[in-house]
Amino acid sequence: MPNIVVVGAGVSGLTTALLLSRNPAYKVTIVAKHMPGDYDIEYTSPWAGANYLPVSNPAGSRWEKNTWPELARLAKDVPEAGIHFQNSVILTRDKDLKATSGQWFNELLSKSPWFKDTVPDFRILPKSELPAEADSGTAFTSVCINTAVYLPYLVSQCLKTGAVFKRAVLAHISDAASLHASGNRADLVVNCTGLLASKLGGVMDKTVIPVRGQIVVVRNDPGVMLTVSGTDDGDDEVCYIMQRAAGGGTVIGGTYQKGNWESQVDPNQALRIMKRAVELCPALTGGKGVEALSVIRHGVGLRPLRLDGVRLEKEIIRETSVVHNYGHGGWGYQASYGCAERAAELVDEALAPRAKL
Ligand code: FAD
Repeated sequence: MPNIVVVGAGVSGLTTALLLSRNPAYKVTIVAKHMPGDYDIEYTSPWAGANYLPVSNPAGSRWEKNTWPELARLAKDVPEAGIHFQNSVILTRDKDLKATSGQWFNELLSKSPWFKDTVPDFRILPKSELPAEADSGTAFTSVCINTAVYLPYLVSQCLKTGAVFKRAVLAHISDAASLHASGNRADLVVNCTGLLASKLGGVMDKTVIPVRGQIVVVRNDPGVMLTVSGTDDGDDEVCYIMQRAAGGGTVIGGTYQKGNWESQVDPNQALRIMKRAVELCPALTGGKGVEALSVIRHGVGLRPLRLDGVRLEKEIIRETSVVHNYGHGGWGYQASYGCAERAAELVDEALAPRAKL
């Protein structure tokens, strides 16, 4: 029975470990510095909204496309996963199309995106449904994930299939091979270290950079999931609102600051985030303005962007067979199952010669 160590307990590591541990042929140990329940600037997954707003281009859409059916199944049939359906409205201001957020949202803002046949109820909004500041808009059914419920749910599913969790801080990716719960050397290591892939020995991927996202979590109910193509407060500031499932509050954002490692909340930015959200969605405070927002907490997370795109490939490092699955930027949840499926295929391929022995 092959022994596998998955390094990382963010959404990428947990989803990959879950798919691998469902295969009775594999014995999976998950090793991580941070686990669900921790809040740390080096650990991105708890900070995400998280919703399903595809941003990949049609050629690279496989990961997001293959993830939707599983997120929709969880939202429909598995309430304990902490995911619910939300009506999502995307507003476009033509002046944002060349800005950072406009480029990031290029496919999302399209009137005929690849995902129009993937998500339910896709439609182009008529002028009569647009606010004055928007030039165009679309609407569809999306999901919002309560990450504080969903990450522990993934842990519970991994435990159910026999996976074992261990805390450790690795200096080199090959060190993971000696940490399998069986006490034997692992046959393969899966690298799901997110942003820290830029600092981990044996990987040191300098094309992985942080994209800082500041958020505010509030108790107010917006009634709809709203995203606008940009703001007038700077090229790296964005505006979105989503209500998490199961009492998780409403996440309002945000920022998209490439190369910024700052972990602390900027109070001026927080004020701008709240002001923009209330202007975009007056219903958030029943028309009573920004003072009527009931703040649960402020937060900062760093999206692990890989400039060359997500890394899903095999490599031998110091005689250790490694499969990489990192660098998901701002779309780690909405591509989690698609990427984990590919990582599991790569694990099968890497272990196939061994199975023939
Ligand atoms: P992480 O969650 O960072 O996990 C990395 C894991 O590796 C951790 O367990 C860490 O401890 C471990 N690790 C790293 N190095 C070592 C080491 N040396 N030794 C041991 N363990 C190690 N995505 C969406 O799909 N939808 C959204 O709406 C969305 N909104 C977002 C909003 C914000 C504000 C932010 C910041 C992100 C958002 N994202 C969203 C992006 C998403 O959160 C990330 O893409 C995703 O969480 C990355 O997950 P990961 O598992 O790859 O990395």
